Amino acid sequence: MKATIPPPAPPASGRGVAEAALKGFCPGCGTKSLFDGIVRFAPRCRACGLDYSSFNVGDGPAAFLILIVGGLVTGLAITLELAAAPPLWLHLLLWPLVTLAAVLGLLRLAKAALLTLEYRHKAREGRISD
Ligand SMILES: [Zn+2]
Repeated sequence: MKATIPPPAPPASGRGVAEAALKGFCPGCGTKSLFDGIVRFAPRCRACGLDYSSFNVGDGPAAFLILIVGGLVTGLAITLELAAAPPLWLHLLLWPLVTLAAVLGLLRLAKAALLTLEYRHKAREGRISD
């Protein structure tokens, strides 16, 4: 017997994942209500009532950002050092700010994309049926 997997539900809002993530659109209705702060989700959608707390994006976005931003910033710091040999204080001033800006910007984007994908693919924690 071959198990069939139903295709993912089409996006309710009709928008792509990238656009929804960039602009913070609710994956259910498409209104701009996903975030309640810089990187904090709102408890629920103000328009359709979709409960955002029922989704669990976990540490996935943060783990990817540690690797991606850490690698990029390290590469840029080494490149700057080899090209211009600036004083140490410039490195100490520049790279924490660049890292903070990149993490905050990309964390918001990654969290929104992951929540949107969870909604569209109806992803939930695995459960053992009775
Ligand atoms: Zn909504």
